[in-house]
Amino acid sequence: AKISPFLDPGSVTKANSLAILQLSRDNLVPVYLQPPKGKHDGYAEGAVVNTRYGSFPHATMINVPWGSQIRASKVDTGSRGRNNKRKRDAADEASKETETETQEVVTEKEQTPINGNGEVEIKKAVTDSSGFIHVLPPTPEVWTSSLPHRTQVVYTPDYSYVLHRIRARPGSVLIEAGAGSGSFSHASARAVYNGYPVDDSEKKGKVYSFEFHEQRYHKMKQELKDHHLDEIVHLTHRDVYNGGFLVDGKSPEAEAIFLDLPAPWEALPHISRRNPKDPSDKTWVSPLNPKKSAHLCTFSPCIEQVTKTVSAMRRLGWVDIDMVEIANRKYHASRERVGLNLSFDRGVNNSARDVDEAIARLTEIETRFREHAAKSRDSDDEMDSDTEKGPKKGGKKNNKKGAPQNGNGVSDSNEEGAAVSGYGTAPWMEGRLITRGEPEIKTHTSYLVFAILPREWTEEDEAAAAAKYPVIG
Ligand code: SAM
Repeated sequence: AKISPFLDPGSVTKANSLAILQLSRDNLVPVYLQPPKGKHDGYAEGAVVNTRYGSFPHATMINVPWGSQIRASKVDTGSRGRNNKRKRDAADEASKETETETQEVVTEKEQTPINGNGEVEIKKAVTDSSGFIHVLPPTPEVWTSSLPHRTQVVYTPDYSYVLHRIRARPGSVLIEAGAGSGSFSHASARAVYNGYPVDDSEKKGKVYSFEFHEQRYHKMKQELKDHHLDEIVHLTHRDVYNGGFLVDGKSPEAEAIFLDLPAPWEALPHISRRNPKDPSDKTWVSPLNPKKSAHLCTFSPCIEQVTKTVSAMRRLGWVDIDMVEIANRKYHASRERVGLNLSFDRGVNNSARDVDEAIARLTEIETRFREHAAKSRDSDDEMDSDTEKGPKKGGKKNNKKGAPQNGNGVSDSNEEGAAVSGYGTAPWMEGRLITRGEPEIKTHTSYLVFAILPREWTEEDEAAAAAKYPVIG
């Protein structure tokens, strides 16, 4: 079996493999890197990703170390021009803007026309090539931020805590329902992965995932196959409220369970050690590992759901019941010029003069930024010319010196900037360094209810323990 790029991406990007393109901090786009397939009018670049930062032929992103910065192509794909005028105008307009977090991306899927061989044709026109992106290896975290949403998903701050609390670790067997968009599935697959399928004699970490929505099930099945995670995540199409958690009639012998369902209390009776309706029922098969305690987490947006879940947990013998809400806060760091208020939205000093001044200042910053970028490009046409020739040298010098900081994190930016750029004060080094908590962060606020179902303890277990650890005296 092929090792998943989520588990071992190697050191460089590969053709026909998944890569995550980072356009800006929170704008991530998953792309399968396609090698060029034929003649392309002298430019064998093949498929291209078009963004407001420029066009990025897949060929320039294959066989480069993960994390590389990729410069926009100087060759226009032509696809934008022939695709539709509105899209082209929007993209051209957007490319004039400075970077924002809300950019649209036109992926290769949307590009037309495609020639008879299924390839995107290339034209020779020169475009704005000042933009860049980064090419990142797929990880559950970047996948969560870029995956096609079919449902609400569990975000990284929640699933990292959940996986720790339910003790998911290499070799664990985990049950998950419902699979939804597969965000949690990817994170849990990595958590339980233990080198599988390296050695068959080892216990293999496995995720048994359940989804009753047919379309979502098929989408997810294909995604797991494409990501080479289908040997770790076993997906079943089922309504778990009625059908429970056995796989092919057998127990998965799970020790960790995560339920992201509208009514977890309806699924809980199936996660017992004995038939809750008839504990003497010898034909009943539990999905749990009888030799281990089971660690469970349910994920519910409303407190009413929590109340019903906790009540079912108590009735079914779960212990250590505990509810947690993850409140994550991300900080945004930026520079603001002293004496110039740019925080229009907060209504402070919001005069017309401030607005004019701010616009003039932003235009000046943008012009200087472009001049600086052009000079760096002229001096070295290679992909990483900026970092080699410009800011990197200054950056080193600056690092040695250390940015003067006061207790509030305010730095002497002018001196610092001048030392860096060589073209006057570098725009990105101007102003006071400000950090703010971001009010919005991608976590779907839900209540996490944790509980433990102790392992079974039979007469035989007692006898074995007594033999192994005889009571002295
Ligand atoms: N945890 C997922 C993720 O991180 O992408 C999102 C799960 S989504 C909020 C809930 C999913 O549970 C939906 O896809 C829904 O179809 C599925 N579901 C609801 N009731 C179910 C049931 N009785 N059996 C199986 N799946 C069910």
